[in-house]
Amino acid sequence: MCDLSERATLWVIDAHSLVTAVAAGVAWGRHPLHVKLAAVISLGASMPSVLLLHLDGRMPNLALMRIAHHHRARGDQVRLQRIGRGRPIQPTLGEPTPDHVYASAIFKFSKPLIEMVRREYPDAIIGGTGTDVARTLEGVGIATEGTIDYSDYSDYTASLGFTQRGCRLRCGFCVVPTKEGAVRGAHTIAEIWRGDPWPRDIHLLDNDFFGQEHWRDRIDELRAGGFRVNFNQGINARFLTDESAAAIASVKYRNVNMRDRRIYTAWDNARDEARLFLGLEALVRHGVKRSHIVVYLLVGYDPAETAADRDDRRSKLRAFGATPYPMPYVRTRELMGFQRFCVRNIDKSVRWSDFARAGYYAENIAPAGQSSLFEVAGA
Ligand code: SF4
Repeated sequence: MCDLSERATLWVIDAHSLVTAVAAGVAWGRHPLHVKLAAVISLGASMPSVLLLHLDGRMPNLALMRIAHHHRARGDQVRLQRIGRGRPIQPTLGEPTPDHVYASAIFKFSKPLIEMVRREYPDAIIGGTGTDVARTLEGVGIATEGTIDYSDYSDYTASLGFTQRGCRLRCGFCVVPTKEGAVRGAHTIAEIWRGDPWPRDIHLLDNDFFGQEHWRDRIDELRAGGFRVNFNQGINARFLTDESAAAIASVKYRNVNMRDRRIYTAWDNARDEARLFLGLEALVRHGVKRSHIVVYLLVGYDPAETAADRDDRRSKLRAFGATPYPMPYVRTRELMGFQRFCVRNIDKSVRWSDFARAGYYAENIAPAGQSSLFEVAGA
């Protein structure tokens, strides 16, 4: 029988085989299985280990999935760790230092997490739209085409990808034009879908679906295949025509969970009001329900923007019947409060001025005739 330290090593290298061996009560080195285990041990000792850090975002991270495929195809040991929401970056006691560490952040607000990664793993390769680094997968020797590895996101059953890259516009706050360049086609729906027995659910990460030359073919594929589709990055309502609005109405557009009918767009600049509402009206004319439309409002980017400007965009969208969803460019107390104000539908019954006076929390607003907690506190 092997001693305890051997057992511990084996547990790490090949837990299933160890359990089999110990359960059989065989002495170490006397069973053919141990020859096999010894080979596994020596192989394991030379396998580089790779740690992938998923720093933000609910969706699986496509770049990390490509990196996982690249390393597993070489025989490396790959482990993905989701960070944030209380999950620490620090390794657990006794955890060996990985040979390679990659981290990906989508959102700028993940900067503190990126700094923590840099402190903990100074050689880590960090990328994603949430970083300042103009780093590409090709730049670190990893293919951006071909197989992606879903195995680290075992709860995820949809299929993920891009039918196009790039964007026709160049909004000042956005990294897409710099990172992706001019609009071009990427993959067909058939290429993105994992195939049976996976559900016909597609998350598209396209930033400008209708900017690509062959968008009609992609719509035909979605329709013919009966796919549910989540346009995860939204569609540009300012460019919608009757034809493209009818195309959206003709597919099974869904929210990220594939449960509710949702189509997302954005209103980043008050000056776009006329074009935006022409696009929204076109959607409705072709059969999209107003309540299906969510409009992301960029807030806090324009230095001249006032609280009244923000509230004006919000109220116009409510009057139209769409759902406003503020996206603070900087996470100030006021802007995060404005996001809560809309997302929790507080704006349907409370004026912004009252909400702001109550410290941006509905709980602080007292029933009529009473002092609010905020006022009692003397603030
Ligand atoms: S339309 Fe969207 S993707 Fe394109 S540049 Fe503007 S914000 Fe970026």
